[in-house]
Amino acid sequence: MESIRFKALETTWNRKPVNVVLPKGKASDYYGEMTFNKKAMRDFLPEKAYKKVMASIEKGGNIDRKIADQVAASLKSWAIGKGATHYSHWFHPLTGSTAEKHDAFINPVEGNDAIEEFSGNELIQQEPDASSFPSGGIRNTFEARGYTAWDPTSPAFILENTLCIPTIFVSYTGEALDYKTPLIKALNLIDRAAVDICKYFNKNVNKVNVTLGWEQEYFLVDTALYYARPDLILTGRTVFGHDSAKDQQLSDHYFGVIPNRVLNFMKDFEIEAHKLGIPVKTRHNEVAPSQFECAPVFEEANLAVDHNQLLMHILNVVAKRHNLTVLLHEKPYANINGSGKHNNWSLMTNTGINLLSPGKTGSSNLMFITFLVNILKALDTHANLLGASIATAGNDQRLGGHEAPPAIFSAFIGSHLTDILNNIEKKVKNGKITPDIQEELHLNIAKIPEILLDNTDRNRTSPFAFTGNKFEFRAVGSSDTCSKSMTVLNLIVADQLKKFKEEVDTHLVKNVRKDEAIFRVLKKYISESKNIRFEGNNYSEEWIKEAESRGLLNISSTPLAIKTFITTKTVNLYETHKILTKKELVARYEAYLEDYTKKIQIESRVVGDLAINHIIPVAIKYQNVLINNAKDLKDVLDNKTYVRLSRNLITSIKEISEHIFEIKNFVGEMISERRLANRIAKNDAKALAYNKNVFPYFEKIRYHIDKLEMLVDDELWPLPKYRELLFMK
Ligand code: ADP
Ligand code: MG
Repeated sequence: MESIRFKALETTWNRKPVNVVLPKGKASDYYGEMTFNKKAMRDFLPEKAYKKVMASIEKGGNIDRKIADQVAASLKSWAIGKGATHYSHWFHPLTGSTAEKHDAFINPVEGNDAIEEFSGNELIQQEPDASSFPSGGIRNTFEARGYTAWDPTSPAFILENTLCIPTIFVSYTGEALDYKTPLIKALNLIDRAAVDICKYFNKNVNKVNVTLGWEQEYFLVDTALYYARPDLILTGRTVFGHDSAKDQQLSDHYFGVIPNRVLNFMKDFEIEAHKLGIPVKTRHNEVAPSQFECAPVFEEANLAVDHNQLLMHILNVVAKRHNLTVLLHEKPYANINGSGKHNNWSLMTNTGINLLSPGKTGSSNLMFITFLVNILKALDTHANLLGASIATAGNDQRLGGHEAPPAIFSAFIGSHLTDILNNIEKKVKNGKITPDIQEELHLNIAKIPEILLDNTDRNRTSPFAFTGNKFEFRAVGSSDTCSKSMTVLNLIVADQLKKFKEEVDTHLVKNVRKDEAIFRVLKKYISESKNIRFEGNNYSEEWIKEAESRGLLNISSTPLAIKTFITTKTVNLYETHKILTKKELVARYEAYLEDYTKKIQIESRVVGDLAINHIIPVAIKYQNVLINNAKDLKDVLDNKTYVRLSRNLITSIKEISEHIFEIKNFVGEMISERRLANRIAKNDAKALAYNKNVFPYFEKIRYHIDKLEMLVDDELWPLPKYRELLFMK
């Protein structure tokens, strides 16, 4: 039989370009046409219902049954007019992806007839069977009911003829089973906390929105080659593969000309995204071959999170039309860059002030410095929690390697801001502000955006970097939901802002002047949170040592990192602010452990199966070719010549035998370790056993398989090679 690898390669060579059908008109003509956005609501809703929904979106508050019925009726006619036949509550279970259960609008009525129905009840609440979603043991299967409840702040949309209604997902007993519930709570919390701080400086602020602009990195691979790699299909990454002679060393891919085939795909998914109101704007080649990035204009965080989830779905669907497969895994290939999802994060007031953008006046600059210092302080207090929020089996492999931030948390603010903070620390004495600090706030801080945006003072290696008017959180994994890290980040900053206010207010009641009170607390925080600031190269060995001496943790192992979710400190933080209860946190921790264990278990099986069923038989086949060759040589050559000329041949036979021997041994040992791990009942010990005892075999086995790839005849090798996967036609 001809090998699957060559069949797949032939398919890719014969690919004809897939053309994109461009919609009529400009992008602004079809932008958002598949969402029940403000415009659609105005067109379809009665005036009173429209006002009520808008108020609920802007200020929160409930929507009563009567209004819900009106919204449902309007949604139904809008959606049916756009070709929708079904509706679904769309939610974010703890799997990290999205879930939907479709119901048809159609309902039979008497007389062998049917009508389309959709009531307020069906809009507001649904009861999907929750028993198959991860819950960390919150529900037993016999009480499997879960509720989904409408989130009016994220507009309903139509995806593949189904009206999707963004919802939260909670258990019958009220516990959150999803990522949206705690996120919305954390966003409300930081809104209130930040407004209180803004009031010190600007009485007009009464709402603070979190803004999020994510940058999504991904790899593309030809679908035929993808299906010839069982490891890609089952784990999302290549568990073997020798480096390609050329990969990213020439840096010729980054920002290079986008290949035509890829450009067609990008145009196609951008059209879909725009129809769904996802404001994608930037596209470019990334550093590694076949790696790309897509970034939208930032939006309110809850909406941005939904849009990212939706975009990951669209990427996959549209790619298939182009015979491409999107790899969202954090490390699909060894020894070249992995993929992340940079979360650009800031705070925006109802008066249009970006709180992380230095202002033009002394007072707006002091407001900016106040937020900056509180963020650093929050990060210093809860760095481990932020670390836990991005820890996954996939991200473990990316962090700390090839242009990815290490698993040590630190923040970069640039030399200019560092000087300013140092000056505040030095020059504020007993809360008194010297004239040069005043001047500093007036004159020097306003220069920051220009300096930073100039790119002269950027640090690409920091996991949490100030970039002129926002922080860029770079440690988030490419396949992960932004929700986890956004919940943690907003929660810890909100908590810190509340503490700051308490401290400032204790000075104010003692008649200390407002500016002085603020400076006193800022000075204290600047000194206390110095440890978290690092301006140097985060990829360097020195930083790892330095971080250790500062007492900063470097945990690139998920089972250990996520323990932070259940420490007393974390539980207090979440319970104080009513984001999640201890029970919910423990449940999440258990669900993450299970997820980790299952992923490593699957990878381990794939490694074993491929090694034994795909690689070793081929190695033996080639070894036999060499052995027969040696025998034939012996027949035709005199003994002396044979001994001289067969030396390399014999060495090759020996080498192949050694590798086969080692692979078999390691796979055997790995299976034994897996069996031991499977017998462990407790989730934490089991995940740790997989991490410490099973996972290390992947590298050991891989080493020998990648050596074999270089020894065995290319014609026989069963798996598409790195050069074929990475440099597609
Ligand atoms: P990079 O240089 O890292 O590639 P850009 O400067 O192009 O990134 O911007 C990256 C992202 O930052 C974009 O998605 C953009 O929308 C987002 N962004 C810009 N301003 C803000 C803000 N105030 N809040 C949140 N995100 C923002
Ligand atoms: Mg970026």
